[in-house]
Amino acid sequence: IVTKLPKVGTTIFTVMSALASEKGAVNLGQGFPDFHCDPALVAAVTQAMQEGLNQYPPMAGVPVLREAIAEKVEKLYGHRYDPVSEITVTAGATQGILTSVLCAVHPGDEVIVIEPVYDCYVPAIELAGGVPVFVQMEVGAQGYSIPWDKVKAAVTPKTRMIMVNTPHNPTGSVMRAADVAALADIVRGTDILILSDEVYEHMVYDGQPHESLARHPELAERSFINSSFGKTYHVTGWKVGYVAAPAALTAEFRKVHQFNVFTVNTPVQYGLAAYMKDPAPYLDLPAFYQHKRDLFRTGLANTRFELLPSQGTYFQCVKYGAISALPEAEFCKWLTSEIGVAAIPVSAFYNTPRESGIVRFCFAKKDETLQLALERLAKL
Ligand code: PMP
Ligand code: GLN
Repeated sequence: IVTKLPKVGTTIFTVMSALASEKGAVNLGQGFPDFHCDPALVAAVTQAMQEGLNQYPPMAGVPVLREAIAEKVEKLYGHRYDPVSEITVTAGATQGILTSVLCAVHPGDEVIVIEPVYDCYVPAIELAGGVPVFVQMEVGAQGYSIPWDKVKAAVTPKTRMIMVNTPHNPTGSVMRAADVAALADIVRGTDILILSDEVYEHMVYDGQPHESLARHPELAERSFINSSFGKTYHVTGWKVGYVAAPAALTAEFRKVHQFNVFTVNTPVQYGLAAYMKDPAPYLDLPAFYQHKRDLFRTGLANTRFELLPSQGTYFQCVKYGAISALPEAEFCKWLTSEIGVAAIPVSAFYNTPRESGIVRFCFAKKDETLQLALERLAKL
């Protein structure tokens, strides 16, 4: 068989988690919580199963969950998506992203992606026959930022889509109003679509808003907005998310979705719908994670790591140049094996080889896990 994805191997997340468990390291690599979700959420899903809600749900997702999503989005971002024709429940954001790209990108179309870029974007573009066009974020004293002039310069008549991610994995940077305005300026008057990956929408810190593209009608009308319950409710293994998009885009999305997964497991959808009635869990999330971010940053301040800002997500990037001259992947292996703390090389988020001397830690961990990691890192 001739491979369709010649550059793809095992993801860095899997590689580093395996090494962490082999070496008994504290795993601050792959992004997932090491604590339990709310028992009330498990109870809601269990109840749905016990009530016999175990057969195929409607293709686009159970109506009560789509309604709950529409209400949440409207309350937070002021835009009402029609749950019937504009919201689709997906098997995690990974499937939402793949399906958004497959339904919209034709062979030869160009898709602008901003590096560092989450690992599933480029393979999705390549499977669709599209051509990724890379623009790299810049790193300055204020951390990572998107050079919008370069994004604009990358647009050609073949540009079909721009993919953005806010809050951003791995950098922890967050798009502000000026970024959204710059994006709007670039696409105005074109037929360019946007894929907005907002899986960390409920993790923006320091009292700042999440600039969902749903807040901006001019952008919402051309956007596939992807979110993930795995991040919001500490259940990454459940693999349930959603895509909100205008009816015309959703119609195309569902053509692919129905032959991609057809639909997503029923009891989890009912459980989520019941649990979402209380907004507290997602409204409280910034304070919950900001505490962990601050605890971790305070500890790291006693090391020779140089901290970059973490404005959102559950990731903290650091420069390690004062500690080691190793390339990022080698440094992560050394840190895991010799110091007992796993991290992810930011170079893994670039398609063109690039060493910035920066690695990513995940702080979605129990306070005691973070303390243990900090004790080990204190040697540095
Ligand atoms: N996008 C980003 C930026 C992510 O970090 C992740 C999960 N790590 C995903 C998408 C995929 O989300 P899910 O687990 O819901 O498929
Ligand atoms: N998104 C997670 C991270 O960035 C990993 C998910 C995965 O392993 N695919 O760490």
